[in-house]
Amino acid sequence: MSEAICQENIDTKLDCGYACRKRCRQVTPMSATQVHIVLERLCNLLRVEARAQGAAQGLLPVQLEVLHYLSQCNRYSDTVQSVTEFLGQTKGTVSQTLKILENRRLVRKLPDAADRRVVHLKVTPAGRRLVSKFVPARSIAEALGLLPERDADRLAQGLAQLLRAAQQANRAKTFAACKSCRFNQVVDGAFRCGLTGEVLSAADIELICREHEYPAVR
Ligand code: SF4
Repeated sequence: MSEAICQENIDTKLDCGYACRKRCRQVTPMSATQVHIVLERLCNLLRVEARAQGAAQGLLPVQLEVLHYLSQCNRYSDTVQSVTEFLGQTKGTVSQTLKILENRRLVRKLPDAADRRVVHLKVTPAGRRLVSKFVPARSIAEALGLLPERDADRLAQGLAQLLRAAQQANRAKTFAACKSCRFNQVVDGAFRCGLTGEVLSAADIELICREHEYPAVR
């Protein structure tokens, strides 16, 4: 019974292994299959919502994704190559997407001050306003609002842990916030990147980075 989807599950209409308030059985830890099913359904919800929101703005979900990525990445990660790595898309698809975002004045290109061969992709104020309309997704925000604060915090931490473990298992780039990077140093009270040697601001360390690496677990 625990592996079957149950219409009596008054919380989720999912398999009875989930936390159903009817308590027909003891709840056991979720298996990898159960976690997979839940994530698949959540991703499906997000995809449907992104499609609808994108359509209302005349944009495709992938265009919204690129916009969102660029709105949260740092200056080492706002290039075509980084977007390609983050999304796992081909360079051609990303270039097409960027052309549309540029034409819509949601993104603009800016040559690097030190190396003119490098082009940074900056989200315009209009682009940031658009991102704030679809992140967080309404369904996620509403669902979290229904949970007690402690449960919502625990859930967020658990999901972050799961993502980190999955990235480790796949040897994938982490693209996480600079403040959790092993190269992030504090020198004379200022943040500094141990890779580039550059000073980082308080805002910089909140951004995600393509060079990010978690410290080794002891
Ligand atoms: S400290 Fe890490 S995350 Fe931050 S800028 Fe340097 S490499 Fe990127």
